[in-house]
Amino acid sequence: MRAVEGPRQMAAVLEAALSAGINHLETAPAYGPAEAYLGQALAALDARDPGARAELVLTSKLLPGTDLAAAQQQLRDCLARLGSPQLDNLAVHGLNRPEHLEWALGGPGSELLAWALGEGLAAQVGFSSHGSNELIERALASERFSFCSLHVHLFDQTRLPLARTALAEGIGVLAISPADKGGRLYDPPPELSTACAPFHPLELAYRFLLEEGISTLSLGAAQPSDLIWARCWQAGELQGAAPALAAALQRLQQQAAEQLGTDLCGQCRACLPCPNAVPIPELLRLRNLAVGHGMEAFAQERYNLVGRAGHWWEEHNATTCNRCGDCLPRCPHQLPIPVLLADTHQRLAAAPRRRLWG
Ligand code: SF4
Ligand code: SF4
Repeated sequence: MRAVEGPRQMAAVLEAALSAGINHLETAPAYGPAEAYLGQALAALDARDPGARAELVLTSKLLPGTDLAAAQQQLRDCLARLGSPQLDNLAVHGLNRPEHLEWALGGPGSELLAWALGEGLAAQVGFSSHGSNELIERALASERFSFCSLHVHLFDQTRLPLARTALAEGIGVLAISPADKGGRLYDPPPELSTACAPFHPLELAYRFLLEEGISTLSLGAAQPSDLIWARCWQAGELQGAAPALAAALQRLQQQAAEQLGTDLCGQCRACLPCPNAVPIPELLRLRNLAVGHGMEAFAQERYNLVGRAGHWWEEHNATTCNRCGDCLPRCPHQLPIPVLLADTHQRLAAAPRRRLWG
């Protein structure tokens, strides 16, 4: 997704990935030229080392909503760009709304997935989702999908129970972008680094997900140096520190509790639903991160994407709260939710940044 400056950049990232022991490549037509560049890099690899090419697991994703003929053509085009007769994993890209699930289970998407499997164009089918927990739960329960890509992160554990359910049922779980969407952890604030020591915050986040049994970590590399933790893992430099891991996670909790005091949002979601559709837990999670761990830059980036990324992210920011008070008696921590939402907006509202893809 990120190595899109040109074929040479993609080839360098693929080379670094292989030497770091990475065996799963995930891309999508929606990532601009990424698929074509990856196809070129894979062709070069196949020419010099067909065995290495054959061992790679390849995933791509098609956006929902198109008719069957168009979707079939998209898949053929995708395979042609990648230079592969089959995808190991074909995902519905962004199963974010109920209509997307309907498309995949009963509409043209259902026919597409059956056709792809029947023709041997995909070995298994799955989905990625930025949607609600309820929607993801329905998708997992449909028995249609063999894998899913979810936002499960050290600093966003709302979907962790869903991931655990999926894994228990043999459904693979790919963690979407732990480095970037998981908190801009490649560029941590000093107080976060202190709390995570002796681990780098990104290393801690990766370790946390691996400990949870997550099947694949999507590293989102734009350049070979983004794969440093995978290289260390491959070299066996990150083994045998389970007590230190538990201690670092404990310190993170302490840090949040000390910095936020009685304002800490426990992310229980009991305050929902809000009559004005304010995504209270998501907005207060950003406040938790900014105040609790100094992750203001990340929180600002995410907050200012609210309402600007369609169904890929939240649609209403804190200004949608009209202080009706409906949520107040539902919060087990008696948080002054409207006051905290106003504070969230004051802290985080800033000039918007460009979103990379989708
Ligand atoms: S006080 Fe604000 S956040 Fe709470 S329910 Fe009312 S509108 Fe929603
Ligand atoms: S009920 Fe309170 S603690 Fe729970 S998510 Fe809502 S605001 Fe946070």
